Amino acid sequence: MAERTQALVEANQRLVGLSLTDGLTGLANRRHFDEVLAQEGDRSRRDRRPMSLLMLDVDWFKYYNDQFGHPAGDVVLCQVARVLLESVRRPGDLAARYGGEEFAVILPGLDVRAAQAMAERIRARVEALGIVHAHGLSGRVTISIGVAEMDLDDAHGAGTLVGQADAALYRAKAGGRNRVETARPDAGPGEPAAS
Ligand code: GH3
Ligand code: MG
Ligand code: MG
Repeated sequence: MAERTQALVEANQRLVGLSLTDGLTGLANRRHFDEVLAQEGDRSRRDRRPMSLLMLDVDWFKYYNDQFGHPAGDVVLCQVARVLLESVRRPGDLAARYGGEEFAVILPGLDVRAAQAMAERIRARVEALGIVHAHGLSGRVTISIGVAEMDLDDAHGAGTLVGQADAALYRAKAGGRNRVETARPDAGPGEPAAS
């Protein structure tokens, strides 16, 4: 009996390992994101076609959990995920849960200007959900977004891209949150926030 249980546990773990979907939000999980980012990065470099990445993070989310509890926080994550699914609809686009309350969107074919416009639409749609958040900006749940376009001449382009979008996200946070910031063309990963 114990053996059979053990076998079931292992089979289950294999399935989870193979899964491409985040269990809470139904978005692509981190593993799927990593794979698609590498694939689309290679393809974009080969085809000399732009590709952009959005990194998104819920603002003041710890306070939300503190006030309303984790189950309510989980519902918010699902609502944000739905906005992403409804906003990102072209074949080849991928919306993923990067981890915790961070999301990422891969946008093949979009240059930084188009990606910035997409990010702004997503930011506005999340704010328009009107989810009450006492500590949030304007009393609502909001998100900050960092945008970066891949350098097609960089062999590590897709890998570098996450760091660049993350640095832009960091600036969006430092700049007051509920906003979109775009990576500076020559800024490397981990660039410190503008003071
Ligand atoms: P900031 O605006 O700087 O992003 O502030 P923040 O409070 O969102 O940042 P911080 O990183 O301090 O907190 C992130 C919070 O996200 C903490 C954690 O409780 C919450 N969180 C992460 N994953 C989940 C999850 O799966 N469900 C819920 N409900 N909360 C989560
Ligand atoms: Mg975070
Ligand atoms: Mg946050």
